Amino acid sequence: MATSEFDLIKRYFTHRGRHTVLGVGDDAALVKVRRGHDLLISADMLVAGRHFFRDADPRMLGHKALAVNISDMAAMGATPRWATLGIALPAADTRWVQAFSRGFMALARRFDVDLIGGDTTRGPLNICVQIMGEAPHGLALCRDGARAGDDIWVSGTLGDAALGLAALKRRITLKPAERAHCAARLHTPTPRVALGLAIRQIAHSAIDISDGLLADLGHILERSNVAAEIELSELPTSNVLKRYLDRVVACGALLAGGDDYELCFTAPRSARARIERAGRSTRTRLTCIGAVKTYRKGEPRLIVRAPDGAALRVVRGGYDHFR
Ligand code: ADP
Ligand code: MG
Repeated sequence: MATSEFDLIKRYFTHRGRHTVLGVGDDAALVKVRRGHDLLISADMLVAGRHFFRDADPRMLGHKALAVNISDMAAMGATPRWATLGIALPAADTRWVQAFSRGFMALARRFDVDLIGGDTTRGPLNICVQIMGEAPHGLALCRDGARAGDDIWVSGTLGDAALGLAALKRRITLKPAERAHCAARLHTPTPRVALGLAIRQIAHSAIDISDGLLADLGHILERSNVAAEIELSELPTSNVLKRYLDRVVACGALLAGGDDYELCFTAPRSARARIERAGRSTRTRLTCIGAVKTYRKGEPRLIVRAPDGAALRVVRGGYDHFR
């Protein structure tokens, strides 16, 4: 390597932190968690050929690698504060690393996250980000709090990212402007941090939609040991996705497409007005898509109702790497 590992770290991954006593450069970073707060930790790995194309734009990849991690903090109702970056690179391609770090750091600054350390090594392109955040003691939003009678809400619109991926794979042909809309949703998702903070004392449970609505809502239902019914016609769609709803690809994207990074959460019916206020104050579109029910053994966990009232029984939800 013409450029050493240490040059890369110094040039592209060393930045002053705002919440950090000791950042990049020592054997470990040192941070202080605020008094009365819990520390939340999560990691997400992005592997070339599995989560992104090998020739993906490095700047957008830097954005996405951090965005999917920040999204986990949003889903917990936590404030993201610190991140580490483990990265394996096939070569010390400084232009690639510079673009990657620009995308990564632009999002880090926007969400006030300090890059406090990591590891840089040669190898097949692989990116592993760990995110750490804070929430006042006991206030983090978990997946296991849903109760029968809760409303089920989702933020934004669903399926655009998966529709963008379908277009890239030539499973559907979109017009240039539609392609651009979906590509932006796929490559540069916006984590819903403000919304997570606004609902954390109202909602009973939450998750971010990374693997598709059915799969991720399914996680809430299993962890909470409840069932749910949602209305197909209530699912929020962009104008782009709406145009293709007669296509199986678009319908699949809406119900089971991953990579949207919207929040799905449940909250008591009595909190409807407060939830709507949280949506307005964070300028986030929120849609109530159904209700949580009591789970009875042998009955389906999740029923999707078609516009004619028929129950579409869900057999296989979302996207699972090992199926
Ligand atoms: P060590 O030999 O102790 O593992 P390294 O030489 O791997 O240390 O890293 C030196 C410093 O640079 C450490 O503070 C480490 O956290 C940081 N670092 C390494 N790679 C990255 C990266 N990709 N992003 C941010 N910090 C990094
Ligand atoms: Mg190291």
